[in-house]
Amino acid sequence: MAKAEKLEFQTEVSQLLKLMINSVYSEKEVFVRELVSNASDACDKLRYLANTKENVMQDDPDLRVEIEINKKDNRISFIDNGIGMNRKDLINNLGTIARSGTAQFLKELSESKTKDLSLIGQFGVGFYSAFMVSSEISVTTRKAGEKKLWIWKSDGESNFSIEENENLELLKSNRGTKIDISVTKENKEYLDKIRIEQIVRKYSDHISIPIYVIDGSEKKDEKNEAINSASAIWTRQKSKITKEQYKEFYNHVGQMFDEPWMTSHYKAEGKIEYTVLNFIPSSKPFDLYDPARENRLKLYVKKVFITDNCPELIPPYLRFLRGVIDSEDLPLNISREMLQNNPVVAKIRSALVKRTISDLRKKLSSDRESYETFWSNFGPVLKEGIYEDFEKKESILEISLFKQSSSKKLVTLDEYIAEMPKKQSDIYFMTGDDYENIFNNPSLEGYKSRNINVLILDDPVDSFWTSATPQFKEKSFKSVTKGLDDLSKIDGKKKEDKSKDKKSVDPLVVVLKEQLKDKVKDVRISSRLTDSAVCLIGDENAMDPQLEKILQQHNQLNQEMSMKILEINPDHKLIKKLSKMATKKDQITDIKRIALMLYEQSKILDGEKPSDPVNFSKNIVDTIYSSIQ
Ligand code: ADP
Repeated sequence: MAKAEKLEFQTEVSQLLKLMINSVYSEKEVFVRELVSNASDACDKLRYLANTKENVMQDDPDLRVEIEINKKDNRISFIDNGIGMNRKDLINNLGTIARSGTAQFLKELSESKTKDLSLIGQFGVGFYSAFMVSSEISVTTRKAGEKKLWIWKSDGESNFSIEENENLELLKSNRGTKIDISVTKENKEYLDKIRIEQIVRKYSDHISIPIYVIDGSEKKDEKNEAINSASAIWTRQKSKITKEQYKEFYNHVGQMFDEPWMTSHYKAEGKIEYTVLNFIPSSKPFDLYDPARENRLKLYVKKVFITDNCPELIPPYLRFLRGVIDSEDLPLNISREMLQNNPVVAKIRSALVKRTISDLRKKLSSDRESYETFWSNFGPVLKEGIYEDFEKKESILEISLFKQSSSKKLVTLDEYIAEMPKKQSDIYFMTGDDYENIFNNPSLEGYKSRNINVLILDDPVDSFWTSATPQFKEKSFKSVTKGLDDLSKIDGKKKEDKSKDKKSVDPLVVVLKEQLKDKVKDVRISSRLTDSAVCLIGDENAMDPQLEKILQQHNQLNQEMSMKILEINPDHKLIKKLSKMATKKDQITDIKRIALMLYEQSKILDGEKPSDPVNFSKNIVDTIYSSIQ
C-alpha cells in the first residue's frame, strides 16, 4: 500500500479552521447541512457528466445520500454516489479555498469582536465546518470512471494526508465519497439518529435526491425511507412550498444565510419554456464588488444541473440574484462553451432582465420602505446597468432612487421632475464621494437658496452613468459643477443689480486671472454662490470632475487633469473688499497672495489636496499672525 503523503493546508484554511474550532458557535448542527449540500452537488455534477460520457452512472443509477451513524465508534458518515474526487481534486478542494476575497474576509472576521461565524457559509467553506464537532475526519473517495481510490485524513491542525488505498470495497459504489467524522465527546448529540433526521428535515428538505439516515448498528437490509421530499423544489407547486422551504433552498443555492428579500418563482411558457426560482438577498454578499462580477445563478436543463458559471444568463448588473433557471429547450448534453451565443440562453436572459426590473418596479410602488433597504444594498450595482444596458437604461433610471439636497428622503427621477419649478428644464445633480461634502459644497449654494433641488450622487458608479446619459424623459441631466449656471433663467430677479457689481469686480477679475493663469482656465462672476466667496467649476465640455478624479486614482486618465474655472461671488464681503484693493497698485501683492489661498481652499472643499500645501500653510500662518497684531 502506498505511503500516506503529508500536505500543508493553505494559510486561509488554517486560519478558518482555527476560527471555527476555537470560537463558540451555537449552530454547530449546520455541518450536516454543509455535507449534505456537498453530496448533492457531487451528484449534480455526475448527472451532468453522464450526459456527455457514457457508462459513468450505469452500474449504480440511483443517486442518493446516506448518513450512517455508528454510536459505538462515535462515528457519523456521509456517503454519496456522486462524482467523487481524485488526488488532484482532493488537494485543490479540501486543502485550499479558491474564492477570491477570502483572505481579506477572514482577516476581518478574526479581528471582529462578534465573530459572526454564520457568515462563514458564504465562502463555500462548508466542508471544514465538520471540524466543529470532530477531532478527526477522513474522506474516502473515488472519481467516477477512474480506478484509484483515495483517502484524505486530517485532525484539523495545519496539515492533512492523502494516500491511495487498493481496497475498492471501502466504498459501496464504484464511485463517490464517504466522509467519516469522529465525533468528540462534547458533541455526542450528533450520534442520535432522531436528532440528525430533525436537522436534515430542517435544512435539506429541498435536496432533489433522497437522503437516508441509517443506524449502523441496525440490520443492513432494513428498508429505510428517505427523510426529504427528494424533488427539485422549483418543479413543485408554489402553493405547496412553505416560506421556510424557500428560505432553506435559497440558503443552499445562494450560499447566503439571511432571509431572501424577494422570491420570484414562475414558469415561463411560450416559444421557449423554462422555470425560474430566483431570490434577491436581504443583505450584501461579501463579494458583491469582486472585480470578476460573476453571477450566481445555476442553470439546469430538465432538472439536470448544467453549470453555475454561465455569464450569458444574466448581465453583471443583476449579479445579486441567486437561484435556478431550468430550461426545457436546451439539449441535455450542452457544453459550457456551447452556451455562449446560444439563442435560447439569450432569450432567457432578456426575459429575466425584463422580469426582474418589473418585479422591482412593483416592489417600489407597493412597499417603498422595503425597497429602500434593497436600494441601499444593491442600488449601486443596479446603476451599472444604466450605462451598460442601453436598452434598459430608461427602465433602470425609473426604478432608481437618489439622495437630494432639499430633503434627507430618497426620490425617484419622476418625483424629482414633478417637483421642479416651472422654469426649470434640467435635472440638476452633483457627483462626489460623500453626501455631506457634496451638500456643503459652495457650488450648491445658489440652488439651495432658490429652493432648487439638486440630486446628490455619492456612489462611484454615478460619475460613470451620468457621463453617458444625457437625458431622462426629455429632461437633460446637468451637473452643477460644470459650465455656466442658468439660475437667473429660473428666477430672473437678481439679474439687474448684478450688472453694477459686475463692473466693480472687473479689476479684481483681471488680477486673479493673471495670478492664477497656470491653475485655472478662467475667472468669472457667479450667481450660484450666496455664502462663499469663490468656488471651482468644470468647463462645460470637461469630463465630470468626480469621474476624472476616480480615473486618476486608478491611473486610467490618459491626460492631465483638466483646469477648472474659478467663480467669484460679487456680493461677498471679501470679494467686495478685494475689488476695492484691486484698483490700488500698492495692494496688488496682497491680492495675489490671497488669490492663491482662495484657490487652494476651494480645492480642499472639492475634496482635493492643495496644489502647494507648504506654501498654503505658510500663507495661513502669516495671515493669522497679521490679523492678531
Ligand atoms: P463548496 O462546497 O462551497 O465549494 P466546501 O469546502 O464545502 O465548499 O467543498 C469544497 C469542494 O470540495 C467542493 O466545491 C467540491 O469540489 C469538493 N467536495 C466536497 N464534498 C464533496 C463530495 N461529497 N463529493 C465530491 N466533491 C466534494
